Amino acid sequence: MQKLFRNLCPRNCFSTCSILSYVEKGKLVRVSGDPAHGFTRGKLCAKGYAYVERVYSPKRILYPLRQFPRGSGNWRRISWDEALQIIASKMLELKGRYDSFLPVCLCKHYGNMGLLHYAPEALFDGLGSITVTEGSACWSAGLDAYLYCTGTVEKSDPEDMVNSKVIILWGVNPAWTAVHQMYFIDQARNRGAQVVVIDPIFTATAIQADLYLQPKAGSDGALALGIAKYIVDNALYDEKFLVHHVYGYKAFFEYLKTISYDWVEDRTALPKEAIWEVAELYAKNSPAALWTGFGLQRHTNGGQNIRAIITLAALTGNLGKSGAGVYYASMKHWELFSFYTRDYISSKNPVLHRKVNINTLGKELEKIANPPVKMLWLTQRNLFQDAETASLKSALEDLELIVQVDQFMNQSSRYADIFCRQPLNLKNGMLYQAIGITG
Ligand code: SF4
Repeated sequence: MQKLFRNLCPRNCFSTCSILSYVEKGKLVRVSGDPAHGFTRGKLCAKGYAYVERVYSPKRILYPLRQFPRGSGNWRRISWDEALQIIASKMLELKGRYDSFLPVCLCKHYGNMGLLHYAPEALFDGLGSITVTEGSACWSAGLDAYLYCTGTVEKSDPEDMVNSKVIILWGVNPAWTAVHQMYFIDQARNRGAQVVVIDPIFTATAIQADLYLQPKAGSDGALALGIAKYIVDNALYDEKFLVHHVYGYKAFFEYLKTISYDWVEDRTALPKEAIWEVAELYAKNSPAALWTGFGLQRHTNGGQNIRAIITLAALTGNLGKSGAGVYYASMKHWELFSFYTRDYISSKNPVLHRKVNINTLGKELEKIANPPVKMLWLTQRNLFQDAETASLKSALEDLELIVQVDQFMNQSSRYADIFCRQPLNLKNGMLYQAIGITG
């Protein structure tokens, strides 16, 4: 007989699918989407349907392992007691040597976003100040752009896209990466909406578009300025909205006079007629929605590219009404994580950690002193997806202990001494005990 469990996919994904898990004799045998979940309507993506395969993958790490010597690939299974003893002994030895836990560095990113995501912070906040990585290789420039332009990072409800007359998908490929949103895009099209895809890559979403523009990678800001210029030159802007809601638009109009369509063509490698066509579609068919992906802010001037795009919504009054808006990210769920761990634990005595930039980790580890970093706790990220891996390699080699906590090994595991499986909830308590912290 099968038992039914209700779960939520913990991946860092827009859909946050409800999952029905079927368990027979203690073994997960099948997963399906939950028809009662409004947004996803009972469907998962390919990654969701592969959960049974993932849970029982022979590559998934289920026990603590020790690699000796580091980089040899010679991993040996050890007990939790031995793993905790090695980790706690090193932390206590560093505390004795430097009179502080600052030589311990926590380096983590996103990955599994279940409630246990902030368990490492819960552990380390209890110790006092350590060193932590800050920043993000992922979405920071875009977040800053939204804060500068709109004062917040909010977006319309995903379902509201059905009310759009024009949808511009700028650097996103929902046909592959946000499959549930395609349903609402299709609904809008059934009602007569036009879909524009702007992407240097001809994607599965671009195939379905009414209009597709293929700009040079990194030229999104120039393209947005070209569209803005056309809107202003042809008085297609929403004057009432500008007067009541937009600060500095007259100066922006002046700035646009310094830009020529030839310059936009040159930067984007797009014919000016195509740029004008998008401008006309967007400005003349309100409400119109814009959706910006994460990739186009990962360039020099990445934040400014996003700001230029948001400006299009402000120019045309496509903000604050149904069917409009600029979709990017939402920070709302952060409140739940904060409740569970960090703020809950440290609200009375906030812990001030020493910060190092996650995007230049190798250089930061090499130069940081008084005290230097000697131990790394690496979780939910593969360092070798980053830039500047040469400096990273030598910095890692200099560390005295690297603990990696994850579900599967990755390129970073070559540098780890101890590999522990996720999740960590029980083991955090054990580590507290091992280093002698109670209460
Ligand atoms: S779309 Fe896929 S990855 Fe995203 S929440 Fe659903 S099952 Fe998980």
